[in-house]
Amino acid sequence: RVRLTRLLAGSEGTLALFVEAKLAIRDAPRFRSVALLSFASLEALGEAVERALGFGPSGVEMIDRTLLEELRRLEHPAVGFLPSEVEAALIVEFDGDDEEEVRSLTRRLVERLLREEGLAVEGHFAFDPKEQERLLAVRKASVPILYRASGRRKPLSFVEDGTVAPEHLPAYLRGLRQILGKHGVHAAIIGHAGNGNLHVRPFLDLQDPEDLRKVEAIAEEVAALLKTLGGSLSGEHGDGLVRTPLLPKMFGDLYPLLGAIKRLFDPKGLLNPGKIVLHPEAPLRITEFLRYGAEYRRVPTGTPFDEPLWAEEIEKCHGCGTCRDYCPVFLATGDEAATARAKANLLRAVIRGDLPPSILLSEEFKAVMDLCVNCRLCLTECPTQVNIPDLCIQARGYYVTHRGQTLQNRLLAEAQWTSRLGSLAAPWANSANRFIPLRRLVEKGIGLDHRRCLPLFQRPAFLTYSSPDGWLARHRVLYFPGCFASFSDPQGEAWATVEVLERNGCFVLTPPGLRCCGVAKVTVGSLEEARDDAERNVRILSPWLEEGFLIVASAASCGLALKQDYPHLLGTPEARQVAENTWDVHEFLLMLK
Ligand code: SF4
Ligand code: SF4
Repeated sequence: RVRLTRLLAGSEGTLALFVEAKLAIRDAPRFRSVALLSFASLEALGEAVERALGFGPSGVEMIDRTLLEELRRLEHPAVGFLPSEVEAALIVEFDGDDEEEVRSLTRRLVERLLREEGLAVEGHFAFDPKEQERLLAVRKASVPILYRASGRRKPLSFVEDGTVAPEHLPAYLRGLRQILGKHGVHAAIIGHAGNGNLHVRPFLDLQDPEDLRKVEAIAEEVAALLKTLGGSLSGEHGDGLVRTPLLPKMFGDLYPLLGAIKRLFDPKGLLNPGKIVLHPEAPLRITEFLRYGAEYRRVPTGTPFDEPLWAEEIEKCHGCGTCRDYCPVFLATGDEAATARAKANLLRAVIRGDLPPSILLSEEFKAVMDLCVNCRLCLTECPTQVNIPDLCIQARGYYVTHRGQTLQNRLLAEAQWTSRLGSLAAPWANSANRFIPLRRLVEKGIGLDHRRCLPLFQRPAFLTYSSPDGWLARHRVLYFPGCFASFSDPQGEAWATVEVLERNGCFVLTPPGLRCCGVAKVTVGSLEEARDDAERNVRILSPWLEEGFLIVASAASCGLALKQDYPHLLGTPEARQVAENTWDVHEFLLMLK
């Protein structure tokens, strides 16, 4: 009898598509514990994994020296639990409904590895959830740090999913060491050691032909090592294009059977072609279809993307697709064009000459760039923190410089003057805003969606302020209220912020003449106009910084504009000084604690 689930699971969409799945679920265990152990050698860690598995843990994860050193270099708090000279760390988790059993297993494991067998050089464990998070932070912080590695050599994923039976882990680690050492290649190793599944990332430069040769050699040798140990090339991520060329050697005489099964399920070869089963007439090499191969070159485009700053930013996107999980525009539309990587892919096609630079002035290209709403989640959620929002802003700025701005964007981005007028004319402006025929006219005139609420205005506006006393106070704050607090919520956001700051011992000053932060203009690509606002604000704010003031913004978008947009817009030391001294009010208050 054919066990279809087993046959199809892991076939990577080459045989069939799952349209429905029933999953068994169980209640989350009531108690949990975490142990963090450090080792002076990878071999000791390999042996410790075997011992740990005897205790029935729910997870065993490892991190090697490369990542630990990087965490230490960045002074990440997570490494506070690790001695300075360690080769690797192991995180062992236990869970269950019997609290005493969970605690006892954890203690006994640490006791055995640390004192009885001397495999570990240091060990910590935690039963309290907050303490557990601190220990787990070592693992959580590692992968993002790996992706952010600077320099031409990047941690590459081509032997990143090898898996062996856990008892072969010490031999696998030894073999990996030898292969990498032979080629003089530095690598980071992280992974699910309890399952014998290691994510090995050698640091190589795909644009260097010598490194490309090393990619092929290392891949072949690691595959041979895995075969000797009865392991698999892929335990979690799948084989995909990158490992398919190695499968004939891995499976040997069995490999033709995979082709026969494929033909049974998919005689026309429509399902995920080229994966697992090689195309007989066009066998692949592991170094084919590289995003950046030896032949990759940038071409001059006469656009802002010739600047290394932006070109390197484009090239940082490695296509992982994580943006499909966090980009709000993609989540709302489900349109691949809305993802962050779609922007990076298009821009890369321009800088490598696959698309002409004139495409930046086309409506289609601009429409894709406009799908980024500058929410800036890419700067925290993207594993490599690709600055997609600023790339889109540059693209829109280039378009606007050559094609001009739309009336709609001009009106919507002029928050300062529309709000100022609205505040002066409140409450009549608010009545007009609620007057349906007028509202419909506005919707038609500037293309506003009927569901969009426009802010109401208040009078008097909050424009300037100085604390009555306290010039000698501990903290001197330049409060940047922004348009909404100034004209739509002076009694709420603006005055409340002043009061909170003063009660926290701050002398508060809002100098006269500040303009809109300019974020709306930046977002729609009106960079010249945004530059004017930024210049004026910097001119007003920076002399006060010399007097020991810090800038505090109550609107997150204003704070971000001052911190992140001004240095790009102006590129002056004063703009950088403003950026470095700007705080969001919440982080500022936390800092005071
Ligand atoms: S933009 Fe970031 S998250 Fe999206 S594919 Fe590129 S690297 Fe991955
Ligand atoms: S910054 Fe742009 S691309 Fe990135 S998540 Fe936000 S909207 Fe999406």
